[in-house]
Amino acid sequence: MTCHTNCCKEYTVFVNAHDVYRLATRLGLEPESFLEIYGAKDFDLGIKVKEGLVDLALKQKDGSCTFLVGSGDVYRCTVNEFKPGVCKSYPFQTRNGNLMQMDSKLCPVDWDTTQFKSMMEPHLKKDEAEWKFYDDLILEWNNKHWIKKPLSAFLRFIMDRVALSLESKSG
Ligand code: SF4
Repeated sequence: MTCHTNCCKEYTVFVNAHDVYRLATRLGLEPESFLEIYGAKDFDLGIKVKEGLVDLALKQKDGSCTFLVGSGDVYRCTVNEFKPGVCKSYPFQTRNGNLMQMDSKLCPVDWDTTQFKSMMEPHLKKDEAEWKFYDDLILEWNNKHWIKKPLSAFLRFIMDRVALSLESKSG
């Protein structure tokens, strides 16, 4: 079976604090170098910074994710080991406690979800916890700083908080 990487070409990949931390530390890059800012629709969970009310997503290159490389029928993700949680989840989700394949038409394969249960369920749970962590950080940031500081300060804030949380888990 060949993956057509349609999802990497069609979706905007929104990221949370843990995604940004993993990519920045593993690639040795500043988060700004691979992030794109989008105007946020959710007033509470949009990041309030000098640049406006924003959400964070991966940059795109020629209409695809910046981390996708290849040509013709052969493409690959260059950050596969530490790709964002939503990429790792796709095309699965849990509904009423059961692992399901999303209705999306971009994935050409009908997966047998029972084969992925033991791998995907812990991942989806961890991803959900990481998005909750991120939402809480945004609420804290918005309460403290409102719209006075630039996006770079928000990125430093989330990087420090993820580092602290990982340290406290390992210690
Ligand atoms: S990070 Fe990798 S898996 Fe996710 S959209 Fe980009 S290329 Fe695809």
